[in-house]
Amino acid sequence: MPAPAALPIFEIRDAVVSCLHDPKVPNMLIKAPTGSGKSTQVPQFVLDAGILKDGQRCIVLQPRRIAARMLAQRVAKERGAKLGGEVGYQVRFDNVTSRDTRLIYVTEGVMLRLLMEDPELAKVGCIVIDEFHERHLDGDLVLAWAIALQRARRPDLKIIVMSATLTPGPLTEFMEPVELLESQGRTFPVQVRYQTPNRNARTNEIEPVWEQAARACEALAGELGSSGDILVFMPGAFEIRKTMMTLQGRSFAKGRRIVALHGELSPQDQDAAVTPGEQPKIIVSTNVAETSLTIEGVRAVVDAGLARIASYDPRRGINTLTIQKISRASAEQRAGRAGRLGPGIAVRLWAEREHIHRAESEAPEIQRLELGEALLALHVASDKAKLNIQWFERPAEAALGRAEGLLQDLGAIAQGKLTSIGMKMSAFPTHPRFARMLMAASENGCVREAALCAAMAQGRDILMVGKNNASHKNEDFWEPGDLTEFQALIRAFIRAEAMNFDPQACIPLNVHAMACREAARSYDQFLRLSQRAGLVINDEVASAESLAKTLLAAFSDHLGVETSSGSRIYRVAGGYSGNLAKDAHIKPPRLLVASEITEVQGKALTVQLNLVTKVEEEWLRELFPDDFNVGKRAQYDAVNRRVMNLEEVRFRSLVLSSREKGEPDHNTAATLLADEVIAGRLTLTLWNERVEQWITRVNCLAKWMPDLEIPPITEEDRRIIIEQVCHGATAYRQLKDKDVFPALHQWLSHAQRDLLESYAPERLNLKNGKSARIVYDEKQPPSVSVVLQQMYDVNENPKVASGRVTVTVHLLSPAQRPIQTTGDIGRFWKESYPAVRTQLRGRYPRHEWR
Ligand code: ADP
Ligand code: MG
Repeated sequence: MPAPAALPIFEIRDAVVSCLHDPKVPNMLIKAPTGSGKSTQVPQFVLDAGILKDGQRCIVLQPRRIAARMLAQRVAKERGAKLGGEVGYQVRFDNVTSRDTRLIYVTEGVMLRLLMEDPELAKVGCIVIDEFHERHLDGDLVLAWAIALQRARRPDLKIIVMSATLTPGPLTEFMEPVELLESQGRTFPVQVRYQTPNRNARTNEIEPVWEQAARACEALAGELGSSGDILVFMPGAFEIRKTMMTLQGRSFAKGRRIVALHGELSPQDQDAAVTPGEQPKIIVSTNVAETSLTIEGVRAVVDAGLARIASYDPRRGINTLTIQKISRASAEQRAGRAGRLGPGIAVRLWAEREHIHRAESEAPEIQRLELGEALLALHVASDKAKLNIQWFERPAEAALGRAEGLLQDLGAIAQGKLTSIGMKMSAFPTHPRFARMLMAASENGCVREAALCAAMAQGRDILMVGKNNASHKNEDFWEPGDLTEFQALIRAFIRAEAMNFDPQACIPLNVHAMACREAARSYDQFLRLSQRAGLVINDEVASAESLAKTLLAAFSDHLGVETSSGSRIYRVAGGYSGNLAKDAHIKPPRLLVASEITEVQGKALTVQLNLVTKVEEEWLRELFPDDFNVGKRAQYDAVNRRVMNLEEVRFRSLVLSSREKGEPDHNTAATLLADEVIAGRLTLTLWNERVEQWITRVNCLAKWMPDLEIPPITEEDRRIIIEQVCHGATAYRQLKDKDVFPALHQWLSHAQRDLLESYAPERLNLKNGKSARIVYDEKQPPSVSVVLQQMYDVNENPKVASGRVTVTVHLLSPAQRPIQTTGDIGRFWKESYPAVRTQLRGRYPRHEWR
């Protein structure tokens, strides 16, 4: 069956072929609507252009397994060849290729494996990245790798990026030299409608999404009659099953074929879904039908507006699939599926006013996912190929740092270099954490248990919160003496398995049957991976200790050290304080690892530790001998008000134990004591008003007479002076009554101190041979307070700073009460004094009143 030459992509075939032959333009960016023929035809253009050297292949990267398989099948059929011959595909657990295969459709995970095995891409002549707009992490990584390789030493490598929707600007720049090729294709207008869910009047419950979809289908079936297919988008297999069951019960659906389309179906069922038949169809599909697969004959689309999207789960430090609202761009693509044959209709199962609040498009995975697995792949490939990788969009430094830190803690890299453990880990197509776990399990003889733990750690919680005892969910499965909470989970899983994961039987046990069933599936996958990697799978039930050691290897970055015995409070990495979860049955051990860490809302740097496993320091030493260090650190002891010198045993940055040893270093002790003094927790008794005045005098003089070049004393300088005072002391009692002036005086040279005494003197000499203290202030003029009689014969205010600054005089009565403040005493005598005298003479008759 030859390709339908009428496909729009043939408009650009000549351009593609001439690019393929042009050594100056190694890259292409192809933009054409869904159904134009990108995925099935462009790889054939490559194949037929004769540019692949002997033994070289064209690899087409697909985001979805189902698309990889179906495209390969379609292309093989068009070429009249057997699948797995010239054209093949490879997805996880399914490899349909042979030595003759020259065109191979692969999924992203497989592509990473190929990259790690053959970092120079020696067997690849052309690499096609399809659906690039979805911006999967691996797609970004492969593009970055291929471009770097091409620039370094593979100028002959052809790179083609394809998408139905894409803003070419930054991408063409990144892929330079590149040819942008566009084909418009044919599309018809699609009328978009919005249908909001009903609410059950009695129960007030919202209509389930499958019933909403059935309602929309019913209306559409009436409009379309028997002339067109309806494509329904649902997020996953579960919702698809529910939708099909609902449709099958409705009379309007009689005479229509109802088919499912998603990655977990058998190949036969997948094929059946896209094969045209006699009857009109309702196809219920995941977002494989959004752009990856074109389904002929669709006139109307019903869109639930949801998809299973990978996102980062900070609780577990891994990426998981969660059901999320799709973006407006995705909704646009989905609606477009109805406009291939003629004008179409799209019904969105949400409100129009909600639509504008949806994201414009999905954020690239590289900006939001955990990068551990991708980074490990990159390390492996870089280790062999030594390439300078530039990202199309660089991930956030924090995310990169976190991933590097994790790989280091897992032992995959050391000093930025891949280790032999890391190399082995990379052979597992799973998150590096689980790879490490299975490897450790193999050594400890507990691969079976570890595979189950990995499955349960990765999936949903298999225990439900009981109605009455909300905080004790694993009570029934817990046994005294357990080392890890996973033991309870394993028991719960085994019970559920024995009951065939029957929900009715599981509910009374508070066990989530569906979650167990899902866990059983990933458990199998982990076992298969282990087998392929040559790990020994244990027949016997493993000991709790071997499982606990294994969990330690996988979660050593989540180590907690109890702050004090029985406190249930732990120090964890990153300066966090961790509380042992309330429902943890384990007797609080000194050391533990947590498989889940939840940030406590509203409390900075506080986390809750869930799914914990008791560990021994001895195991840590066995597993990570190089991660221990002994350090000395001075610390202020608030109880005894002194600085102690501690010798600490640390695991990475975490202090495991400490004891007092030796004398603290004097500089550090001074700094720590000064901190306490500045915070006001310790008082220097001799740091009094006179000291403050001395500082103010220095600062005033520095301001009044800059020519003297007296250095002012800032807040920061006070700190230095206080540290000076503290120097030599390690305890408050040595400090309490220490004289501060020696430290203070050091601030000025001898000559400067003399200048201070003459230009900003502490006291003012009065006519009668007595003296008065001058009060200095940085915000107002200096002042003296003097009994009026002592100022007789003085007609001018005293001055400081070589006559530049007038001293304000506060005149006092003989009983030291304030009478008047003046900056011009001559005027006071003339203007105010006569009245003052009259008034005061009566009150103080025995004093002199001139
Ligand atoms: P694109 O990648 O541009 O979306 P494809 O290359 O996937 O387009 O498909 C191009 C055309 O090939 C479709 O419009 C359809 O006519 C046909 N086609 C592709 N796959 C199949 C299939 N499995 N069965 C029938 N027709 C198919
Ligand atoms: Mg395609």
